[in-house]
Amino acid sequence: MIKYLDLKRINDQHDAEIRQAMDEVLQSGWYLRGNTTTRFEHHFADYIGTRFCVGCGNGLEALSLILRAYIELGVMKEGDEVIVPANTFIATVLAITENRLVPVLVEPDAETLQIDDRLIEQAVTPRTRAVVIVHLYGRCAYTERIGELCRKHSLKLIEDNAQAHGCHYGDRLTGSLGDAAGHSFYPGKNLGALGDAGAVTTDDEQLASVVAALGNYGCSRKYVHDLEGCNSRIDELQAAVLDVKLRHLDKANRRRQQIAARYTETIKNPLIHIPVSGRDCVWHIFPVFSECRNELQAYLKENGVETQIHYPIPIHKQRCYESLSSLSLPITERLCDTELSIPCNQSMTDQEVTEIVGLLNSFGRL
Ligand SMILES: *Cc1c(COP(=O)(O)O)cnc(C)c1O
Repeated sequence: MIKYLDLKRINDQHDAEIRQAMDEVLQSGWYLRGNTTTRFEHHFADYIGTRFCVGCGNGLEALSLILRAYIELGVMKEGDEVIVPANTFIATVLAITENRLVPVLVEPDAETLQIDDRLIEQAVTPRTRAVVIVHLYGRCAYTERIGELCRKHSLKLIEDNAQAHGCHYGDRLTGSLGDAAGHSFYPGKNLGALGDAGAVTTDDEQLASVVAALGNYGCSRKYVHDLEGCNSRIDELQAAVLDVKLRHLDKANRRRQQIAARYTETIKNPLIHIPVSGRDCVWHIFPVFSECRNELQAYLKENGVETQIHYPIPIHKQRCYESLSSLSLPITERLCDTELSIPCNQSMTDQEVTEIVGLLNSFGRL
């Protein structure tokens, strides 16, 4: 049985280092808002290439705190519009709506699977304040055109970097390309903790300090509350684990790229469409597309290969967003109907990759 993602096997690769880092936290007697978190924040900011990193509870809260901080700073207010790709994970949109901002869903390009930069400008209205780009599947969504458009219309450019830790755009990394970025360290992400964790990266000192205050009960100095904040933080144990795994991230991503290259070169089946490969993609997810997706998933399962679907129901068809249900987003809907994610991560052996390719190539030809 080949699991979609074997987290134990991934973390076993760094077992001794992780145990030592956790033991140091245990022995320190200090479990929240301490030196281990500060050290990880510095390392992560250095890695991403931003001046500031503020740890927080998870990826959803990272995005939500960025928007909330912009509201506190008077950059946007309730009812303003935020442009976002229609095919993202729902958390990106939840961060917008929980701040009482209005999500404006834009279709992806069917080949790159990223927000279609040719469609963004026509979605801009006088109420638009920000564009959230999502580096979906580990592929960079940023383009020069998006950068120019944001400058031209004075829009904040926010990156959802939950799926793309370590992804390059030229000599920079995703997470440093816009005004601020939200990161998730959910266990299954490319940089994953052993529980929930997240972070905001930015070069904007004022934004970083408001995000930090908001996540700490709105506190500027101990027991002085200027903002109505919340509690959103990385704990020292997660920061210690993340600091270890950050050192191995580039190597893990290179292995993902190696596996993805083999998939791209060797999967040859007219019933299965392979995505165009983005050169610097870090393949958080390797998606394939098929008109007979459900049969393909069942076939792989029967033959011992676990897969997932990212994502089976588009956001505008979810019950919680009934107000969006009349939108027509045919590309997004088609992707939801045809997408299948096959295993692609650093713990896989060459043998497993070969087995998966063999199965995909024999599908429908028996
Ligand atoms: C995982 C994910 C999130 C949410 O991160 P959590 O840490 O689970 O809250 C947000 N956006 C995208 C694109 C994600 O994949």
